[in-house]
Amino acid sequence: MHGHLDVVPADPAEWSVHPLSGAVEDDYVWGRGAVDMKDMVAMTLAVARRFKRDGVVPPRDIVFAFVADEEAGGKYGAQWLVENRPDLFEGCTDAVGEVGGFSLTLAEDRRVYLIEAAEKGIAWMRLRARGKPGHGSFLHDDNAVTKVAEAVARLGNHTFPLVLTDTVRAFLEQMAELTGLEFPEDDLEGSLAKLGPLSRIVGATVRDTANPTMLSAGYKANVIPRRRRRSSTAGCCPDGRRRSCARSTHCSGRT
Ligand SMILES: [Zn+2]
Repeated sequence: MHGHLDVVPADPAEWSVHPLSGAVEDDYVWGRGAVDMKDMVAMTLAVARRFKRDGVVPPRDIVFAFVADEEAGGKYGAQWLVENRPDLFEGCTDAVGEVGGFSLTLAEDRRVYLIEAAEKGIAWMRLRARGKPGHGSFLHDDNAVTKVAEAVARLGNHTFPLVLTDTVRAFLEQMAELTGLEFPEDDLEGSLAKLGPLSRIVGATVRDTANPTMLSAGYKANVIPRRRRRSSTAGCCPDGRRRSCARSTHCSGRT
């Protein structure tokens, strides 16, 4: 049973409660990481405690691994354990972790549990533009900031072609069977919208997606810099064939 204890940053100014307070309001625990994924960690611990209280001894060892660094790729968490302490996982044949299966309520009496069968790949890219340096008050037709801004906008707005992998196809077939919905390829986006909140996740598995995430440029407000860069665009392919795969909750499209 594995889970991660790290979270992504949170700006208290954007929160109605302090993100690290663990405030309980309306019978919910509020805080960064409450869902991703301290909830499952807490449930796992509660089950272990229950075993102990009830004297339940499982027929084999259960390994609990609560690690750090998942949000940034796992190098100092899961990967470190794999490389340095494989003995801790001796004899483990199955692993249960985050999002591998999560529930989707189709109707009041109908809930499906999705099982992860593939993972989306990710490629981080850094784009640099060069132009002529100069003063911001003059005519300037070779501005690196303008060039990279245009490139970022095009990439962020680009729609990549539809690629239905076998895994996604199998998922859609099963969903069609369960829901009675149809997912025709000529109106895939429209039909996926009927899946509600799930459509944003499933939609990201039917084609590559790209999202610019960071920008930096310049050093003084009235000076046009020679160089500007936009970094950290995630260009993902649905089946993980391209580039290296990194586990990332916020990029993965899991089916
Ligand atoms: Zn997570």
